[in-house]
Amino acid sequence: MTEGVEPLLERLRKDVVLVAEGYLFELERRGYVKAGPFVPQVVLEHPDAVKELHLELLRAGSEVMVAFTYYGHRAKMKAIGREDMLEELNLKAVMLAGEVARQGNALTAGNLSNTWKYDSKNLEESSKVVRAIFKEQTRWAVQVGVDFMVAETFSHLGEALLALEVIKEKGLPGVITFIPLQEKSCDGYLWEDACRILDENGADVVGLNCGRGPDTMLPILEKIREKTNCYIAGLPVPYRTTPEQPCFFDLKTPGQKNAFPVGLDPFLLTRFEMADFAVKARDMGVNYIGICCGAGPHHVRAMAEALGRSVPAGKYSPDLKQHPRIGSKEMTYCFAPRGE
Ligand SMILES: [Zn+2]
Repeated sequence: MTEGVEPLLERLRKDVVLVAEGYLFELERRGYVKAGPFVPQVVLEHPDAVKELHLELLRAGSEVMVAFTYYGHRAKMKAIGREDMLEELNLKAVMLAGEVARQGNALTAGNLSNTWKYDSKNLEESSKVVRAIFKEQTRWAVQVGVDFMVAETFSHLGEALLALEVIKEKGLPGVITFIPLQEKSCDGYLWEDACRILDENGADVVGLNCGRGPDTMLPILEKIREKTNCYIAGLPVPYRTTPEQPCFFDLKTPGQKNAFPVGLDPFLLTRFEMADFAVKARDMGVNYIGICCGAGPHHVRAMAEALGRSVPAGKYSPDLKQHPRIGSKEMTYCFAPRGE
């Protein structure tokens, strides 16, 4: 536990907790992560880039620095032939998150993700592999020091339950979230039922992250709120998903090409739309509010300010009155706005 920092469950009891994720996408845009494998080697190859992004998100109002170990697990590292990096990468990622968190009264979270190894048809064997992956990553997170664990983007309730079991064994709070790509989990549960079952099994925070934009995630969050007693989490992607194209995997550019993952820019939501999501989610009873792949610090700052918070990056929040072209009449130089 980080000394002198208010723990997650205490914060949630009093107010919503704001959390920025989306490290893979943002570091890919910045040229430090390869789209496709999406493995966080950047932690060892360019640690300053990871630290800088943590810092930007902290200044924008994120209360949690999530260690960048997403897909930094044994199965993925093995798939790219870099299992040798595994332990050092996990330890370093938690160190970087912690260093930045301590600069701003934020919490440090360890991070587990779906392994791609869970197989409902081969439960016994695959559960062994998955459990071992979660155990070693959790052990490394605890070794460096985390306040809680985030376990995310699960498509199977069974895999999420394994993550919960491993986190609980360590006595840590856990935030467990599903990626709602379809109407049900791959093992056949409606998302609200999957979340209720996690709740019944002792999860502290359950919900959804990634995959869907606010418009197609909020209706599911509403059902989860109705069925679940524990705290709930909602971290959509900042993309304009629709009932016809509910996930960012479904979005198509005019030539009908898949926009995911590197052509999504035309669908990116504005900071105002994400701010609007934060307020709607809070009013609906979502407790752990955030943003996933596609997030930029500007989204996070707007969400924080919409929730009534004052954040370090707020010093530079827009003040368009001071703009010579679109500001007040007195400030207008020789250009008048069109139509005048
Ligand atoms: Zn995401």
